[in-house]
Amino acid sequence: MKKQPIHDISKKLAAPLNIIASPQRIAILLAIGKGEACVCHLETALGWRQAYISQHLMALRKADILRDRREGRYVYYSLKDASLLDLITASASLSGLAAESVSSLINTQTYPSCACPHCTPAIIPASSL
Ligand SMILES: [Zn+2]
Repeated sequence: MKKQPIHDISKKLAAPLNIIASPQRIAILLAIGKGEACVCHLETALGWRQAYISQHLMALRKADILRDRREGRYVYYSLKDASLLDLITASASLSGLAAESVSSLINTQTYPSCACPHCTPAIIPASSL
């Protein structure tokens, strides 16, 4: 039987969907959102242990969904392609949710209990002013 191009294309299309198709990974992607987040921020945002989050981050990075950037002692994760968030939001209507209920979860928040630089901007020493 001759292999049709549709099979190659559908295989490619399925790959990223497979990687993100878990509630935990979708939660991580929403928590990172359009910006970037370090593991400690995700810990605060999601309430999961660091090792558990790191495991998912590793898989998402390996699949080329996330990129990472080191700055000092923090590693920041961001989405390589933010259109992934549109895909997740599109899934809202398929699952009977209002799009706003998803878009409101996309990371823009800061958490008082989080000590990451995003939530607690560095204090500029008075001597440098
Ligand atoms: Zn934070």
